[in-house]
Amino acid sequence: MTTTPAPAPTEPTSAHETAAHKIWDAVVVGGGVAGLAAALMLGRARRRVLVLDAGAPRNRFTTHMHGVLGRDGTSPARLLADGRDEVASYGGAVRPAEVVDATADERSVTVTTSDGDTHRARHLVVATGLRDELPAVEGLARFWGRGVAHCPYCDGYEARDQRLVVLGTGPASIGQAQLIRQWSDRLTYVVHDAPAPTGEELAALEARGIGVERGRAVRADTTLGPDGERLAALVLDDGRPLDVDAVFTAPAPRPGDDLLLRLGAERASAGAGPGGPLPGQVPVDMLGRTTVPRVWAAGNVVAAYANVPVAIAAGTMAGAGVNHALVEEEVAAAVAARAATVAG
Ligand SMILES: Cc1cc2nc3c(=O)[nH]c(=O)nc-3n(C[C@H](O)[C@H](O)[C@H](O)COP(=O)(O)OP(=O)(O)OC[C@H]3O[C@@H](n4cnc5c(N)ncnc54)[C@H](O)[C@@H]3O)c2cc1C
Repeated sequence: MTTTPAPAPTEPTSAHETAAHKIWDAVVVGGGVAGLAAALMLGRARRRVLVLDAGAPRNRFTTHMHGVLGRDGTSPARLLADGRDEVASYGGAVRPAEVVDATADERSVTVTTSDGDTHRARHLVVATGLRDELPAVEGLARFWGRGVAHCPYCDGYEARDQRLVVLGTGPASIGQAQLIRQWSDRLTYVVHDAPAPTGEELAALEARGIGVERGRAVRADTTLGPDGERLAALVLDDGRPLDVDAVFTAPAPRPGDDLLLRLGAERASAGAGPGGPLPGQVPVDMLGRTTVPRVWAAGNVVAAYANVPVAIAAGTMAGAGVNHALVEEEVAAAVAARAATVAG
C-alpha cells in the first residue's frame, strides 16, 4: 500500500480554535502512554485532538522499562517523546498543562487548566494515571524505581538471583513473595504492614525456601556503589540490618481520577467481584467508556494493574471508541439534516 506523507504538525492557534473549530473533537487529559495512544488513533482518524499533559508519568523514576515488546530496555521518557512526535505527525496537539476542572453538558465537555485556560471538546479521554503510595519506611522512597519496585515483570529479571526482600503491605503480599521467588531463591518476606501469615502460609513459604521476618522495617540503609548511592539493607524494628539488593513491595495505588469524580463517575465498591469492575476504581467498558456521557478513561487511572503495553492497548481502544461515537453522531446529524431538507 502506498502512503502519502503525513501532514506537518498543526499546533492549532487560538484563532484556529475560536474561528472555524470552536470545539475539539476530543481532548485527552494525560500524555502518558495511554493518553498518547488514544490521541494517535484519533489523529489517524483525522480528528482534531488536543492532549494536555502535566508531565509526570508514573514510571518517571526509572531509566529503563521492560516487558514492552519491541521497546524492551528503552527509557520511558524516550517512548513518550516518540509518541508525542507520532501524535503531532497526524496534526494532534500536545501541550504541557495541568487540568484542574471539567464540566459536561449534553453536547460537549469543557476542561479548565491551572492557568485558567478552557478547552471544549465533543469527547473527553481521561488518562491521568495513578500515584503510588509507598510503605512508610525511612529512606525507601528515594530508591523507588532503582532498587525498590512493585512489578517483577518490569524489574524481576534484572534482580535475578540477588538478595531480595518482599515488604508486606497487605493480604496479597504473601502471594507477591511466592511470585518473586520465581526470580531468586535468596528471598526474605518481611511481614511489615501485612497480616500475620497463617500456619499454612508459613509452611508454603518455608517449603520454597523463603525466609520470614515477622517484624517491621524501619529504615533503608544505603552504600556507595560504582553508580552512586544504592540500597544496601533494610533495618528491622529490632535493630538488625537485613542485607538486600532489591526490595519488592505493593504500594497503595491512588488513582488520579478527580476529574472523573467531578464529572459524576463513581468508584466501584469494595464488593465488586471477579469479572466486574475493579474495587476502588471507576468502571469502564472494554472501549474505556465511563458511565458519564462523552467521558472516556484509559490506563492506570482506571486500571492499576496496567503496565505500559496494557495501558497502550487501553488508550488505543478508547481512541477508536471515541472516533466510532463521533461517527455515530455525525450519521445521526446528517440523517436529521437530510430529513429537514426533504421536509422543508
Ligand atoms: C517505578 C516504576 C517502574 C515501572 N516499570 C515498568 C516497566 O518496566 N514496564 C512496564 O510495562 N510498566 C512499568 N511501569 C508501569 C507504568 O508506569 C504504567 O503502566 C504506565 O505509566 C501507565 O500509563 P498511563 O498513561 O496510564 O499513566 P502515566 O504514565 O502515569 O501518565 C499519566 C499522565 O497524565 C498526567 N496527568 C495526571 N493528572 C493530570 C492532570 N490533571 N492534567 C494533565 N495531566 C495530568 C501525568 O502527569 C502523566 O504524564 C512502572 C511503574 C513504576 C512506578
